[in-house]
Amino acid sequence: MDQEPNRLSEIISVLDTLPDRVFILSSSGQFLDVFGGTDTNVHFSANKLVGANISDIMETEAAQTFQAVIDKSLQTHKTQNHVYTLSPQQHSTLPEAIIPIRTQWYEGRVHILAEKYKEQDAVVWISRNITDSYELKERLIELSEIDDLTQLLNRRAFSERIKQCFGCRKRYNVNTSIILIDVDYFKSINDNFGHPFGDETIKQIAKIITEEVREVDSAGRLGGEEFSVILNMTDIIGAQLTAERIRNRIELHDFSFFGKQANITVSIGVSQINASDEDQTDVFHRADAALYESKEAGRNRVTVIRGDE
Ligand code: GH3
Ligand code: MG
Ligand code: MG
Repeated sequence: MDQEPNRLSEIISVLDTLPDRVFILSSSGQFLDVFGGTDTNVHFSANKLVGANISDIMETEAAQTFQAVIDKSLQTHKTQNHVYTLSPQQHSTLPEAIIPIRTQWYEGRVHILAEKYKEQDAVVWISRNITDSYELKERLIELSEIDDLTQLLNRRAFSERIKQCFGCRKRYNVNTSIILIDVDYFKSINDNFGHPFGDETIKQIAKIITEEVREVDSAGRLGGEEFSVILNMTDIIGAQLTAERIRNRIELHDFSFFGKQANITVSIGVSQINASDEDQTDVFHRADAALYESKEAGRNRVTVIRGDE
């Protein structure tokens, strides 16, 4: 007979040993019980949450999202996966929390309980801290997409971006223009001033390009001393103006590194995605032909090839 209370305490001790935190939440978002969480980097006396509502410890918008997940779990009887973040400020509202210095990522797995809990409809919400794996994933994406020297998109990521833009142009009929930039006589810059000087020049040109385009645009380093920019929602006239601004700034910029000074210019080709284009390579061929014309005509200039509409 007196085995039952023992059994209950055994079960609770198992639940409290679970690495992930286990919340029992009522249909109205009240914490009915909290167990586990031995493998978390945010420590708080979880039992102090019991009785509180998610809206007591979270901003309205986050609490509404949580409530929606609970509602869906109750309605569908299916496990809900919900990935969310909690910022250091939000953690500070937890009772006696050890506040993490950076935003934490969580994966919540939520399932309806078969029976009422403390006489209420409820869900079990298992919360796993996935910050380390999330940050690792972000870092890997960054390493695979970002050019180390300039912090611009690398060739592969840039090609992906232009592919997406081509899809958008077809679907939404928005203007998308392309600028191709190649540094003039760069080989002789390296030869005369040294490779490290050349590297600093590439970095400075990337900085100027970034400053001259908008956040919504994508700038990439296609290789060596070649750059490209995708200008979203920009027609060829706007793209030509941007290209001219970049060309002019580089021409006027004082490239001084390691006690040496060089005059640098760039040649630019501009085109736009046209309705008749088969795929994204068409616009690149036009921009490349325009760049070639700029080189042939004496360098340090912008050439536009519109192509047919
Ligand atoms: P043009 O005006 O016709 O473009 O002449 P160019 O000398 O710039 O053209 P070319 O393509 O012949 O030379 C590009 C040079 O860029 C060759 C290579 O030595 C140099 N280069 C490529 N990548 C890097 C890099 O990462 N750092 C440095 N410093 N130089 C690079
Ligand atoms: Mg080149
Ligand atoms: Mg060049």
